[in-house]
Amino acid sequence: MEEILQKLNLSPVNSGAGTGTEWLECGGDILESVSPVDGRIIARVKQASNEDYERVMDRAVSAFDAWSGVPAPLRGEVVRRMGNAMRERKRDLAALLSLEVGKIRSEAEGEIQEMIDIADFATGQSRMLYGFTMQSERPGHRMYEQWHPLGPIGVITAFNFPVAVWSWNAMIALIAGDTVVWKPSSKVPLTSLATMKIVGRVIEEQGLPEGILSVVIGRGRDVGERLVVDRRLPLISATGSVAMGRKVAQAVSARLGRSLLELGGNNAVIVTPDADLSLAVRAILFGAVGTAGQRCTTTRRVIAHKSIFDSLANALVAAYRKVPIGNPLEEGVLMGPLIDREAVAKMQKALEALKAQGGRVLYGGEVLSGGLYDAGTYVTPAICEARSDYPIVRQETFAPILYMIPYETLEEAIEYHNSAPQGLSSAIFTNDLREAEYFLSHRGSDCGIANVNIGTSGAEIGGAFGGEKETGGGREAGSDVWKTYMRRQTTTINWSGEMPLAQGVRFDV
Ligand code: NAD
Repeated sequence: MEEILQKLNLSPVNSGAGTGTEWLECGGDILESVSPVDGRIIARVKQASNEDYERVMDRAVSAFDAWSGVPAPLRGEVVRRMGNAMRERKRDLAALLSLEVGKIRSEAEGEIQEMIDIADFATGQSRMLYGFTMQSERPGHRMYEQWHPLGPIGVITAFNFPVAVWSWNAMIALIAGDTVVWKPSSKVPLTSLATMKIVGRVIEEQGLPEGILSVVIGRGRDVGERLVVDRRLPLISATGSVAMGRKVAQAVSARLGRSLLELGGNNAVIVTPDADLSLAVRAILFGAVGTAGQRCTTTRRVIAHKSIFDSLANALVAAYRKVPIGNPLEEGVLMGPLIDREAVAKMQKALEALKAQGGRVLYGGEVLSGGLYDAGTYVTPAICEARSDYPIVRQETFAPILYMIPYETLEEAIEYHNSAPQGLSSAIFTNDLREAEYFLSHRGSDCGIANVNIGTSGAEIGGAFGGEKETGGGREAGSDVWKTYMRRQTTTINWSGEMPLAQGVRFDV
């Protein structure tokens, strides 16, 4: 543990506020980062006080002045260097991520790879901040739109993707000319501090001002709540639970700010009669058990046709039995712990609710004990039989619980599918073209992500990521989401000697 901390320039006690090149002597309380792997304290963080927050914000505001004036392709060059710095530290950073979040090594390395990928993507994008040109109805006039940097932006992240989600925002915001103030989850502060140290070195080497990228870790929700009401931040990007998103959305809209919300999911896979069941089982297994069921895109519901329901359930139970559960840093382990004992208690409560509502646990759901398991954070993933109208099935329980729901017609399956209040990711397994197209049509899945013959989880950074309904409507990472981080300006230039008005209006004296 000490070796990883040293390699990543972390100390037993760390400053919780940094401006890229400077670390503040924070005046707040101590926060302990407890590993879900064995319940030990990894290191401590001195949290930011209100004054520290103000200092960070000041730097972010003044850095915006300088950074927004750097040509976008040169901003892209800085981001390229950040991606390379992450490449060099990928293994160490992934090891810390495993220790702090409990992700298995391969998924932790995958998360760091996402940061590298989005840096590469953003570098290319920095030369492609395109605006349209339009045909003016007035003679001798030209119309076009241009995109300007927006300002310092606030980024709030959740515990389960402690650094990748920041990078989706930060790398794109940087090439857009914005500066970024990051409030990570207090459950996992160290991985974010280590990441900031890696990118901070690039900022220093490039002779850039402090405040381009900042981090501020404060007690509980204090910093987050200050951030959302702060008028100096024209955009708040917030990732987390629906409950958090509701509060953030209200606070940001009250000041007429812009928010980008990435909230909870309740993702389903429909498995039709002629689906390739072995493919479906592999995808559902990764989707439901990967990251111990703690992904926003985790498969939480399987809507299976009655004719294949039992064979699919049996195949899934057989696959679940084989999942090695244990220390996520060990080779071969596929499922680590939940983030904390509270998450385990919530899982148990959800299983009780399921039974009370008429459902049945087909496999798993036990809290494990003995040896490392005594950390109290290890469970067996659960497969349950349920109906789509059970209240518990419509909630996101952030744990490895899979609800299996039988259906008879595809219309019924889609109705069950879309009955969840959240709308993040979805999938259908079918070899029938009409079923696949129906699912992808406007009558089909109502989610931001809809897949055919792949699972709900494990998106690539090139696509726009996010969901509808209670998931919040935000989009991050790929496609044209860079536009969210910039302000659009429509420009009309009159190069004639006349002053014609649009729509033929006359106003001459
Ligand atoms: P959470 O809502 O408890 O916390 C998320 C972040 O919000 C934390 O940094 C927290 O400190 C902050 N926060 C909480 N209340 C706040 C407030 N009133 N004002 C400002 N900030 C506040 O979520 P979590 O347990 O860390 O993460 C799990 C949740 O995140 C799940 O619901 C999951 O689906 C969701 N998630 C969504 C996505 C996505 O892209 N849609 C990605 C990852 C996680």
